[in-house]
Amino acid sequence: MQSPTDDDRMFDAIVLGVGGMGSAACLELARRGVRVLGLEQYPLCHNRGSSHGESRIIRKAYFEHPDYVPLLHRAYDLWSQLESATGRKLLLPTGLVLSGPPEGETIRGARQSAELHRLQLENLSPEEAQRRFSGLIFPPEHAVAFESGAGTLLVDDCVRAHIDEAVRHGALIRESEPVLDWSTDGTTVQVRTSGRQYQARSLVVTAGAWAKDLLKQAGLPLRVLRKTVCWFPLRQPRLAADQGAPTYFYELPHGTFYGFPSLDGTTIKVAEHSGGDPVDDPATVDRELHPSDLVRLQSFVEQFIPDALPDPVRHSVCLYTVTPDQHFVIDTHPVWRNVVVGAGFSGHGFKFCPVVGEALADLALEGTTSLPIGFLGTSRPALRG
Ligand SMILES: Cc1cc2nc3c(=O)[nH]c(=O)nc-3n(C[C@H](O)[C@H](O)[C@H](O)COP(=O)(O)OP(=O)(O)OC[C@H]3O[C@@H](n4cnc5c(N)ncnc54)[C@H](O)[C@@H]3O)c2cc1C
Repeated sequence: MQSPTDDDRMFDAIVLGVGGMGSAACLELARRGVRVLGLEQYPLCHNRGSSHGESRIIRKAYFEHPDYVPLLHRAYDLWSQLESATGRKLLLPTGLVLSGPPEGETIRGARQSAELHRLQLENLSPEEAQRRFSGLIFPPEHAVAFESGAGTLLVDDCVRAHIDEAVRHGALIRESEPVLDWSTDGTTVQVRTSGRQYQARSLVVTAGAWAKDLLKQAGLPLRVLRKTVCWFPLRQPRLAADQGAPTYFYELPHGTFYGFPSLDGTTIKVAEHSGGDPVDDPATVDRELHPSDLVRLQSFVEQFIPDALPDPVRHSVCLYTVTPDQHFVIDTHPVWRNVVVGAGFSGHGFKFCPVVGEALADLALEGTTSLPIGFLGTSRPALRG
C-alpha cells in the first residue's frame, strides 16, 4: 500500500496472512498501540482463501463443543463494536433453524450447549417448523430447533471492516507480498517476503489453507478441502432475509447441508458442510463447477427447498483447513513462544474472527491469554496422534 523505508522493517508483531483471522489480529494488535505489520500474498479481500463469498452463519448454541460458547459471547460483542466503529451493518439477525435426528450430533449438541450456557433455543416439532418457515421442508422424523439470536455475517464486509479499522489504528498492511519464509532465535523473528526482509518481536501465523507449509516445525496435521457453494434461483421470494426467512442447517443420513435466506431477493446460497475434495496446493485449486459438485447439492435443494430451482446461477470455490478433531488451533508455536498460531478453523471459524484476533494479540504480546482457549492448544492428543 505504501512504499517501505528502513524504519518500516522493524515491528512489534508481524501478522502473516491478512484474511479473516489475520485482519482481526491486525486490528487487535494495532488497537493496543503496538507497531504491527500485516503481510498478505494476494490483493486484500481476495477470493482464493476461506473468507469470501457473501455470507457466514453465526450462532451460539454450538453443537460442535459447549466450550466455544464463552468465546461466542465475546465474538458477538466484538462484531457489534466493529459495526459501531465503522458504521457498517455486518450481522443480519436472520436466526437459524436446525433440523436433524433427535439424537444426532447437531440437535443433541446444540441442546446441550444451550442448556449448559442458558441460551435461548426453541424446540419445535417438524409440523410447527413447517408452518413457521414456509419454503423449507422438515422431515417428519426430525427434531427441529430454532435459535433466534443466530444470524448471517456479511463476510466480505467483515474482513474489509477489520482491515480498515486496523489501518485507522496504525497497522501497516502490505498486500500482494507473499511471505517466502520466516525464522527466529526465540527473541526476534525474521520474515522474508518477495523482495524484502522484516523483523519483529513476535509473529502471528494466520495463513489459512497455506498454514501447514509455513508451520512445518509445528507438525500440525492440517488437511485442506475444496468446497463448492452455489446460488440457486428462487421461484418466489418467500425465502428472503427481509421477509424474515432464517438460515438453515440440516443433518441428514448422507451429510450436513446448510443455506441462507436470499439477500438479493432472487437467489439463495446453499452448500454442503460435510465432505470436500482434498487439496494439495491451495494456490492452484480447481475453481470450475463440475457436475460432480452439483449432484448432492441439487438433491438437497430438490428435497428440502421447494421454492428454489435446481440449476444454480453462480458458484464459488472456498477452502476448509481441517484438524483431525475439527477444533481450531490457537496457541503459541510448540517450539517458539514468540510465534503464535491461528489455524485449522475446520469450516466453522469465521464467526469467531474478532475473538480469535483478541486471543492471538494476547498470545503475541503477553505469551498468555485469559480467554478460555485451553481446549484449542497444540498439545492436545488429537493433534499429536
Ligand atoms: C464455503 C465455506 C463456508 C463457510 N461457512 C462458515 C460459516 O457459516 N460460519 C463460520 O463461522 N465459518 C464458516 N466457514 C469457515 C470460515 O470461513 C473459515 O474458518 C475462516 O474464514 C478461516 O479464516 P483464515 O483467516 O484462517 O483463512 P483465510 O481467510 O483464507 O486467510 C488466510 C490468508 O493468509 C494468506 N496467506 C497464506 N500464505 C501466505 C503467505 N505465504 N504470505 C502472505 N499471505 C499468505 C492467504 O492469502 C489468506 O488471505 C466457511 C468456510 C468456507 C470455505
